[in-house]
Amino acid sequence: MRLLIAMMKHETNSFSPIATPWQRFVDWGAFQGAEVVSAYRGTAMPIGSYIDLAEAAGAEIVSPMAAEAMPSGIVSADAYKRLTDPILEAVAKGGIDAAMLDLHGAMVAEETPDGEGTLLERIRALAPGLPIAVTCDLHANLTRRMVDNCTALIGYKTYPHIDMHIVGRQVGRILLDALAGKVRPVMAWGNRPILAQTLRMGTDDEPMKGLVEAARAAERGPILAATVFGGFPLADMPDAGLSAIVIADDEPDAAAETRDRLLDKAWARKEDFVYRHEPLADAIGRARKIDGGPVLLLDHADNCGSGGTQDVMTVIAEVLRQDLPDVAVAAVWDPAAVDEMARAGVGSIVTLSLGGKTDMPSIGLAAAPLTVTGKVKLVSDGEWVCRGPMYTGVTVMMGKTAVLQIGSVEIVVVSRHHEPWDLGVFTSVGIDPRAKRYLVLKSRIHYRAGFAPIGTATITCDGDGVTTSDNELLNFTRLRRPIYPLDRPNNWKT
Ligand SMILES: [Zn+2]
Repeated sequence: MRLLIAMMKHETNSFSPIATPWQRFVDWGAFQGAEVVSAYRGTAMPIGSYIDLAEAAGAEIVSPMAAEAMPSGIVSADAYKRLTDPILEAVAKGGIDAAMLDLHGAMVAEETPDGEGTLLERIRALAPGLPIAVTCDLHANLTRRMVDNCTALIGYKTYPHIDMHIVGRQVGRILLDALAGKVRPVMAWGNRPILAQTLRMGTDDEPMKGLVEAARAAERGPILAATVFGGFPLADMPDAGLSAIVIADDEPDAAAETRDRLLDKAWARKEDFVYRHEPLADAIGRARKIDGGPVLLLDHADNCGSGGTQDVMTVIAEVLRQDLPDVAVAAVWDPAAVDEMARAGVGSIVTLSLGGKTDMPSIGLAAAPLTVTGKVKLVSDGEWVCRGPMYTGVTVMMGKTAVLQIGSVEIVVVSRHHEPWDLGVFTSVGIDPRAKRYLVLKSRIHYRAGFAPIGTATITCDGDGVTTSDNELLNFTRLRRPIYPLDRPNNWKT
């Protein structure tokens, strides 16, 4: 048996000014051929599970591409071609019995607003009927084109995404069982007009907690897999929003019934998918009154893990203005500031213009750096390995990294985007996060993977940036309408 195993992942924020050329994938990790297996075997990724399953089945692995980039703006035509061409060429050569694909589900490319659906459609055009298993992120915006061009599709049930390898194994087994004639997968999918907000999709909280529990409970008898996707609201494309998909063994009615039950349950909770704003000064003021630590301060509107520039200084400026003591910040993206600190050397006192290098025209915000004076504590290559529950075993490359100490505030400054979901973002640069009173994290929900166990409280801080939860700032042009909560007619019909 020959199995094609590939990964292509990017969560596209249509409002992000950060470009997505091929190099952005190279920076995070883009592998071909035997490199794919050595990079991802044993990792807690869907592709890691696919490799395990294929090796256990004694299958020959064809691995034309495994690439991922941190979320950012629309994927360039060149990058999309470089990602998909090797996969399509491998399919075109023939001799492949099935494919296992590790995708995201919210990729918007210059060429197509449905990056994954277009890839799957092209694969099926070359190899009609090829059995294909697909994993998607919980933030996938599911489309008809994706579902119509694969055999079995599943999504993560956790946010933070700590079950990637589990769903990879689940859907991979369904595919192998289908190849062996043990099951006949049929799928039912659908959506509801809900543009759920990312901050309200954590699976430890309602409403996602109850929805995921219902999906898990449904996975018995003929139901092989059930997924509720929160969707990615910042990918401005027609199908953005909440959806569900169910795989059943040869029982389409059972799949449809389960799908409807899950979607109805989500619709009944639609108000709970809307984030409620709190003025920034009030949030930091509230944090100030909390004893003990570390208190986690989420700079969620500038989360590079959802396409933020990671250089907005609004929340950090307020932390300095209210003089919070004993703070560590992860992380500010500012390669020029890192170079300046590296040139000055460890131990030097520097005055520099930190962050605020990127205009955000989509939300009408100009870049606003902060002039600060501090001591260069450390300069490093920014490489370390995730040891927490998310991306376990994967090497993170933050690029050249420096730590700037301003009074009792330590700021990690990086040259490549990285969302802080693992303690390594601090420990790799000599900061003990457990010993701090406050940790400012440019993250929304993924921080929970590494930091929830050590945090005594969490405060969401409404700063500025292109991962804002303020829908008033976002000008959607491709999204289907009406959709909740952007449009609130008196009588909603599903
Ligand atoms: Zn996600």
